Amino acid sequence: MVSRPPTFCPDCGTRLESIRFDGRERMRCPPCDAIVWHNPVPCAGVAVVDRSGPEPAVLCVERGVPPGVGEWTIPGGHMEIGEEPPAAAARELREETGVAVDPAALEILSASTMPPREGKHVVTVHYVADRADAAGDPEAGSDAADARFWTPSAFDASGETFRPVHEARFREAAAVLE
Ligand SMILES: [Zn+2]
Repeated sequence: MVSRPPTFCPDCGTRLESIRFDGRERMRCPPCDAIVWHNPVPCAGVAVVDRSGPEPAVLCVERGVPPGVGEWTIPGGHMEIGEEPPAAAARELREETGVAVDPAALEILSASTMPPREGKHVVTVHYVADRADAAGDPEAGSDAADARFWTPSAFDASGETFRPVHEARFREAAAVLE
């Protein structure tokens, strides 16, 4: 399986041929007599929500590497082999913000397909966690330029921007009632 549309066989290097299988276009390697599957890649993320103030605040990270440098996101990333989705979300949170949360404390908020980028399709499992269940103060980690809590009104007044799909998750998480 590959994450971007394949042109050559990853096993033998032969140029692939396009065939119709299961009602979709698939890429097949003639010498291997095998289809090279192109499927979505699973990702997981978590929005940590601080409800101690008058307005809920959500922990966000500012991207420090392409694509979308300077845009804000909800912490998250690719799942590793053998990793449960909540564990992946908690690991990405810690890597990007330094904040630790028990995977068992995460609640699923949504699971959705992202718009493809350069032929790569991603499905994200999106969790929410309460700040009271998380440990540590935000500090920008891997791939991040900044990490901090934003309330929706402070974000709106800041002139900062979200990566488009992350803005919906931010507002969705801020609206979750305890
Ligand atoms: Zn092959």
